[in-house]
Amino acid sequence: MIVLGKSLGPTPKDLEGPEADLLEQTEGNSVIWCGSATAALFWAYRIVRQDEEEANSEVIIPAIGCDAVAHAALQAGLTPRFADVDPQSGLINLATVEARANEKTRAVVFIHLFGQTAQIAPIAEWCHRHGVTLIEDIAQAQGAHLDDGRPAGSVGDLSVYSFNRTKILECGGGALLTRTEPFGDIVDDIVEAFALPSEFNEERAASLALSYRNLHHALVTLFRHRLHTAPWQLFLSILPAYAGLGLAPMRDPSALSESWTGVSPQLRRRLEKAEHYSSVLSGGPWTLLDSWRDSGVCWRYSLLVDFPDELVKFSEAVRKDGFHVSNLYWPLNDFFRPGDVCPAADRFARRIVNLRVDDSVDLQWVDRCAHSLLANCPR
Ligand SMILES: *Cc1c(COP(=O)(O)O)cnc(C)c1O
Repeated sequence: MIVLGKSLGPTPKDLEGPEADLLEQTEGNSVIWCGSATAALFWAYRIVRQDEEEANSEVIIPAIGCDAVAHAALQAGLTPRFADVDPQSGLINLATVEARANEKTRAVVFIHLFGQTAQIAPIAEWCHRHGVTLIEDIAQAQGAHLDDGRPAGSVGDLSVYSFNRTKILECGGGALLTRTEPFGDIVDDIVEAFALPSEFNEERAASLALSYRNLHHALVTLFRHRLHTAPWQLFLSILPAYAGLGLAPMRDPSALSESWTGVSPQLRRRLEKAEHYSSVLSGGPWTLLDSWRDSGVCWRYSLLVDFPDELVKFSEAVRKDGFHVSNLYWPLNDFFRPGDVCPAADRFARRIVNLRVDDSVDLQWVDRCAHSLLANCPR
């Protein structure tokens, strides 16, 4: 099925192949194609919430991840709660989920952060035992496999995919996969009831997206310096201005069908670059995240530096050499709910560096970038 603004339509011919693939790999029930993972998460949350009162339903979200995961929850009327992460991987685990669970917990989102997949099985088992819906976020991990060899997306009750800029395929779009009954049956009603605002306008959406990004970056700087006096109340109060952001329908199904078979070669090119980073960077003042070796997906090459206090200066120096490095994975609880204290996420965010492995860079670039890191790290 595909979301068409205010209703669901049949799966477009172009997407029949990808849909059959996804359903077979994950033993899924149905696929709802939409414009983004944000939209897929929005529908997932609406399915979870159903008719419940807003204040009565909570979703547990990893403190490290994309802020769209929390924003979509608020838009769908679920209360986001934030689970701390493993300080070495940035992934949630059973202990951090349990620490945030209560009788209002309706769902847990597992983000396959940077393509990593470890630790999901105990969380899945816990969700199942407690009647809590497990949502897998595969935006950064398309094509990844779990410890037991099954594909990412084959454990959750609901799984969300992104094919937008900066993800594995960048052709545009997103998808919600339902794996377990009864979710497949109620999707129609949910979409009909909560579709896009009718005044939706693409140009305005693009400028709002830029504004949102700028706001996010501006706040990270305040959080980094622990200037917490106002930002999160300000952020939450300004958030309604961004209602509908990321909820547009899929624009071009044929672009996705054309890119679909490119996943495996794309992943191989990424692994080759990741191997090269590893060979140059090993032994430096950092810990290299290497579970892309197990999952088969390297979304960004990630490392945790041993010099958190000098991370900003270091990143600036590498950028001056002409290499894009990003370290904007700030804990979501600082934005949305500082009362959900997540000390390990804070430490992780102060150490993380992400490097490019996508098609915008080649092996020579990777080599020069890695040497720039070595040349600029504090001694
Ligand atoms: C990018 C991202 C999203 C949002 O994806 P869009 O398709 O751009 O809405 C959601 N979750 C994670 C983990 C992401 O990295």
